[in-house]
Amino acid sequence: MEDNAKILALDLGGSKMLSALVDVKVDQNGDKKTQISGIAKRTLSKDSGKNGVWQAILSAVDETLEQANDSWDNVKRIGTTIPGVADPRRGLWVYAPFSGIENFPIAEELQRRYKRPVFADNDVNACAWGEKIFGVCQNVDNFVWITISNGIGGGLVLNGEVFPGKFSGAAEIGHFNVEENGVLCGCGNKGCLEATAAGPAIARSYRELVSLAASSSAIDPSLVASWVKYLGYAYGKTTVDTLRLEEEIILANQATAASIADEARRGNPLAQKVYRNVGKYVGRAASWAANLINPEKIVIGGGVAGSFDLFYPSLWETFQTCLFKQANKTITVEKTGLGYEAGLLGAAALAYKPYFNQIEEL
Ligand SMILES: [Zn+2]
Repeated sequence: MEDNAKILALDLGGSKMLSALVDVKVDQNGDKKTQISGIAKRTLSKDSGKNGVWQAILSAVDETLEQANDSWDNVKRIGTTIPGVADPRRGLWVYAPFSGIENFPIAEELQRRYKRPVFADNDVNACAWGEKIFGVCQNVDNFVWITISNGIGGGLVLNGEVFPGKFSGAAEIGHFNVEENGVLCGCGNKGCLEATAAGPAIARSYRELVSLAASSSAIDPSLVASWVKYLGYAYGKTTVDTLRLEEEIILANQATAASIADEARRGNPLAQKVYRNVGKYVGRAASWAANLINPEKIVIGGGVAGSFDLFYPSLWETFQTCLFKQANKTITVEKTGLGYEAGLLGAAALAYKPYFNQIEEL
C-alpha cells in the first residue's frame, strides 16, 4: 500500500487513549505527508479493564469520524498501538503490567466491529516503524529508536524491518544498567537507565539537587553559587535567604520533567545540570546500542524528547567518548520527526505498511 490512504489510528496508553484519522498523501517524488484529523481523547485508569478500554475506543472512534467530518467508506485500514506486551502476528494484547489486562484479542475485536483489516503492535515498535514510514528514517534501514517519557523503551529497525526479538523483548534499552547500585527500577534491578533518566527520575534528581543546594552540602560550591545568583541573591550573604530556599524546595517537590526543562531554559543551573545528566546516561546507553548494532541513526522520541536541546550536547559528548568510532563514522543521534503525535503516526504506519515477523507465542 505505497499510496494515498486514510487510516483510523488508535494510540492506547496506560492513562489515556487517542483516536484519529491519518491521511497519507504520497507526492511525485515518493515523499509521504501525513495529516491528522479528528483527534479524540479518553482517559483510562488502571481499573478500566478490557471493557472500559473497549467502551473508550468505541466512543472515541465515533467522535473522530464526527470531528473529522469524514465517511467511514474512506477509511481503508485500522492501526493500533498496544501498551505493554503485544503479539503483532495475532494482534493480541498479551499483557499490560499497570492495568493487568491480559490476552485481549484487540485486532480481532476491532476487525469484527469495523470490518476493516487491523494491525497492532506495542507502542515502541509502532513508533520505530512510524519513523521508518513517515519520519526521519524513510531512507534509513538500520536504526535504533529510544522513547523517553514516564519510562524508557527501545525499538530496532534492522535491514528495513522491525526486529522484535524472540519473545518481543528486543531493545529494552530502559533496562541497560547505567549506574552500579543506582536507584531501584520497576523491573527489580538497580541503576537501570529508566530509573535514572526517565521523566520521574528527572523530577526526583532535581528535587534532590535543590535540597542539597539549599543546605550547601555534598555539592560543588560553584554550582550552589551560580544557583543562588540565579535566584537573585548575592552569594555569601547569610540573611534573608532561608525563606526563599524553603520556597524553592517546595517548588522543586512539585516540579515535573517539563517544568524543570522550562527552568533550565530560564537559566536555572540546577535544572540544567539535571538535563546534562540525562544526556550523559542516555548517551552512554546509546553508545552500547550503537556498538552492538552499528546503526545509521539513533532517534529519540517520547515526551522528554521535547527537551532534546537541553540534553543533546552532553549526550553527544558521552556518546562519542564510548563509541567505537572506526565502525560508526557517520552515525547521528536525532530527535524524532514524528512530533507530539508519534503514537498515532506509529499506529498508522503499522496499517500503512504492515510487517509480520514470526514471533514465538509467549
Ligand atoms: Zn529496569
